[in-house]
Order: sequence, then C-alpha cells, then structure tokens
Amino acid sequence: MPSNSYEYMKNYWGTHPEQYKKQKERIKKWQNEHPEKRKECQKKSMKKWILKNPEQKRKMGERVKLWQQNRKKLLVNLMGGKCEKCGYNKCLAALGFHHKDPTKKESSRDWQRKNFKIEENRLLCANCHMEEHHKIRNP
Ligand SMILES: [Zn+2]
Ligand SMILES: [Zn+2]
Repeated sequence: MPSNSYEYMKNYWGTHPEQYKKQKERIKKWQNEHPEKRKECQKKSMKKWILKNPEQKRKMGERVKLWQQNRKKLLVNLMGGKCEKCGYNKCLAALGFHHKDPTKKESSRDWQRKNFKIEENRLLCANCHMEEHHKIRNP
C-alpha cells in the first residue's frame, strides 16, 4: 500500500459522503456480527499505537497509576484509614480490601471498579488479610 493511501481514502470519502455512510454501516454490521474479531482488531491497533507512541503510552500508564493511587487513598480514608483489626496505617500499599463474601469477589482489582461497595468489604493490612484468608481455607 502506498503511504499516502490513508490521505487518498480520506479525500475519497470526503467527496462521496453517501458511500462513506454505507461503508460505515457495513463496518458496523460486520463488527456486530463478529464481536470477537472486533476485539482482536482493537487489540492489534492498540499494539500498533503503543509501538508508535511509546512516550504517550508511558504517560498514560502514569495517569492510570495516579488514578489508582488516588482511588485507593479515597477508599482507604472512607473506610477508616487503618486496618480494622490491628490499626496499622503506615503504608497504603500494605492495606487492602477484603470482601466479606468471598464468593462475590471477582479479582484483587475489584476496588478499581465503579460498582465496588465499601459496605461489603473490610479494610485490612496485608498481615491481617493473610490471616483472614488462612482462616477461610483452614476453618
Ligand atoms: Zn481478602
Ligand atoms: Zn492488620
């Protein structure tokens, strides 16, 4: 493919709005019929984008990290700011969320989700958290 094909297509679609609309609908239909392929395509284009924009990828990663830190700080504060069993509060990274109903827990990143419910979780330090899980496994 010539390198200016993208520009060429852009010009072409610009002068053929009707066909552009049809083409868009075709793509949409195809995407709806092949959701798993669509995902694959998105992954591929994401990978390409990352290779082309390593700097932006890094910045994005930093933003995500910052968001996670702020989110965790907020949740920890809302839940009392310390381990509810032993009172530990020195390091945010050593505090975690323990679901009161282990069958409802989906992943260790549940707290990053919108539907995370404070009242269904307990704030525990890493040690107390381990103890709690040990108790569940060895009643
Ligand atoms: Zn837990
Ligand atoms: Zn503790």
